[in-house]
Amino acid sequence: MSLPMAEQPHLPLFEDWSPQMGIADCGDSDWTPPRRTTCGKLPIHPGAMGIQFGQSVFEGCRAFWNGADPARLFRIDEHYSRLVTSCERLRMPVPPEQLFVEAVANQLQDATSWSSPFPSDTLYIRPVVFGQDDHVMPIPSARTTFVVLTAPLRLFPREPLVLFAEREFSRAAKGGLGHAKTSANYAHQYLPTWRAKEAGCDAVLWLDAETHERIEEASTMNIFMVIGEELVTPSLQDTILPGITRRSVITLARERHGLKVVERPITLTEVAEAIEDGTLTEAFTASTALQIRSIARIVDRERNIDFPQETPWMDRLRRDLDAIQRGEADDEWGWITEVPVL
Ligand SMILES: *Cc1c(COP(=O)(O)O)cnc(C)c1O
Repeated sequence: MSLPMAEQPHLPLFEDWSPQMGIADCGDSDWTPPRRTTCGKLPIHPGAMGIQFGQSVFEGCRAFWNGADPARLFRIDEHYSRLVTSCERLRMPVPPEQLFVEAVANQLQDATSWSSPFPSDTLYIRPVVFGQDDHVMPIPSARTTFVVLTAPLRLFPREPLVLFAEREFSRAAKGGLGHAKTSANYAHQYLPTWRAKEAGCDAVLWLDAETHERIEEASTMNIFMVIGEELVTPSLQDTILPGITRRSVITLARERHGLKVVERPITLTEVAEAIEDGTLTEAFTASTALQIRSIARIVDRERNIDFPQETPWMDRLRRDLDAIQRGEADDEWGWITEVPVL
């Protein structure tokens, strides 16, 4: 007899992509309508800008389906506007919004997207846009491909995170790509992430590139801390990815709970001191794939910064977000788009 998913925490978050994908191409600024095809290999030149020079951007979205009602797609308009920012930063043609939403909806409508390689009520959606031109030199691509992949997601309570404070490498510098969701933002992470895992940590804590003192992000998650009576999160700048989960948490905290949310720089020194004097009571991360997760510890060279284990604010915010996504609470801010599953 198989255990319910919640009791199998050793299973990975994802296994593989759903069997079908959506695809559209852009020639000279004209996009084809989205087509459906078997998820798999595409004919692509190895010199394509997307492969050779990292001209590639993506999104990560989420949808819920209870198996009966229409599927609930979360904040797709926000994902589209971030995709526009990312494409523009890399000088790429942007898929029109209608095409983008249609391709995502097609994926959700297909019941097999939710059932293979394993059945799930939550679908992770990965739109990708990449340059197809195969120039010898790094020139922005005129021919561009847009694909929408999906993958069923496993949800169950996960262990609090242990973060490795990265004092040598940096994620993003001022004027760089940190605020755009580009593949290039991930290329530099493999080595630091591997080192963090070697040190027994789950993820990298990224600090600012200039001083390595200010907290920016945790791997691919935004960061929140409860300090005194305030929910504090690093202020957005071009070195920080503007997470949609981050934004949703801020809205929930402010508008539903009247909690004061402050966006400002947070240093590691302040965090260590605020834990010491008892004013820092909670720390957690926010992202689409991992949703909201607590931080247990930051390993910073020889010292360990340990966080309190009780997380009442985090628990409340996570429940609120989950209830909206699942249709168990009012969609007060119009975050949900319903898509019938055929
Ligand atoms: C995608 C991403 C996030 C989280 O953003 P969400 O919109 O909440 O999923 C945070 N940091 C980085 C670097 C990311 O790529």
